[in-house]
Amino acid sequence: MAKHKERLELERFSFGIGDRFAHQAKAQLKAFQQLALDGVDVVPVWNKSNREHTLIGSNPESVHHSASEAVTALGWRNNWHVDADHIRLETVDRFIGCSDFFTIDVAESIGKPASSEKVETFVERHSELIGDIRIQGIAHPFPLSEGDLVAIVGKYLLAVEEAGRIYRHILVKKGPTPKFITEVSMDETDSPQTPPELLIILAMLSDEGIRVQTIAPKFTGRFNKGVDYVGDISKFEKEFNDDIAVIAHAVDAYDLPRNLKLSVHSGSDKFSLYPVIHRALVRSHAGIHIKTAGTTWLEELIGLAESGDEGAKFVKEIYAQALEHAEELCAPYASVIDIDRSKLPSSDRFAALNGSQIASAIRHIQQNPQFNANIRQLLHVAFKLAAKTGSRFTNLLVKNEEIVAQQVTENLYQRHLRPLFIG
Ligand SMILES: [Zn+2]
Repeated sequence: MAKHKERLELERFSFGIGDRFAHQAKAQLKAFQQLALDGVDVVPVWNKSNREHTLIGSNPESVHHSASEAVTALGWRNNWHVDADHIRLETVDRFIGCSDFFTIDVAESIGKPASSEKVETFVERHSELIGDIRIQGIAHPFPLSEGDLVAIVGKYLLAVEEAGRIYRHILVKKGPTPKFITEVSMDETDSPQTPPELLIILAMLSDEGIRVQTIAPKFTGRFNKGVDYVGDISKFEKEFNDDIAVIAHAVDAYDLPRNLKLSVHSGSDKFSLYPVIHRALVRSHAGIHIKTAGTTWLEELIGLAESGDEGAKFVKEIYAQALEHAEELCAPYASVIDIDRSKLPSSDRFAALNGSQIASAIRHIQQNPQFNANIRQLLHVAFKLAAKTGSRFTNLLVKNEEIVAQQVTENLYQRHLRPLFIG
């Protein structure tokens, strides 16, 4: 199968973790080890986007370095990967050597006008996508007129072509025996992609020759950073199950990789969706990639708050600065956070809390009356303030390694991996 030689195969279950300051890879990996002891193998994928590297001042090699150190230290024998998250043609190059997983982000090209000739060619090639489309596992066929198909192809074709350019660029740069996993992401856009749109996108990705193994659509509802899902859970459940059925159909119909699966971005803390996702996986035997990033940085703050006076003082300082600069910190994340400013305590009131009260305010346990989702979201976007303190923050992480690591492992294992994969 020479034409498929670039493939490195991603397993059925994988989970993306972010380690913004490169100090928690071991604590993260430990959560996967605990899950393996429970009998479920999930592949860890360390992801970091170009934007994160820029805000923190780190380089892509550092992700691979700390991950491989953790793998060695803990004797991890299963697979693991390093994801160049949300890369584009202009940012991919420095990730080539140290990544074996590439999340090709083409959301920006969605809706931009494509060549009408190319749209026509696709529509002519794919008459099977016109009429009542029947998909196993979806009760009612969905009707697609030629006009619908033209509109959907027109909306996504440029994005798919852009994905093709980036994919072939990686293929060439990876040298004679390229081995990597390809994800295509379309989540950072305004409107969700419907299951019929997903089917057409997959047909286009196949025509473009992209061996996509995970696809990240934008789902219905709000996937805010670091907090629970906001939206209609039953609507999500229907869409998610339909998407799984569409993928199984497209794999056969368009000769896509057999392990192709959904990727859920901003997947941390969506506690009300985890039972839905778990049920869908059990029922369909489908795979899943869940991507998280900032939840580990929040656990670092929780650990420091609990570690004693010095750590708690640091968290109070970060909070005070974050409050002062809330406007500019939140601006780039406007579509993925919802902070009620009236529920944010003043920095004086926050400073009056003790360490365990601060930890309770940040830690995502919704039943705890001390939990404050507004504080949590504000701190979620405040990581660059900690980066500015340089070694002061990372020295605190080293000094309080044990208590911080405990938070990181427990958060991933108890609140994320177990509900998702064990139920
Ligand atoms: Zn994303």
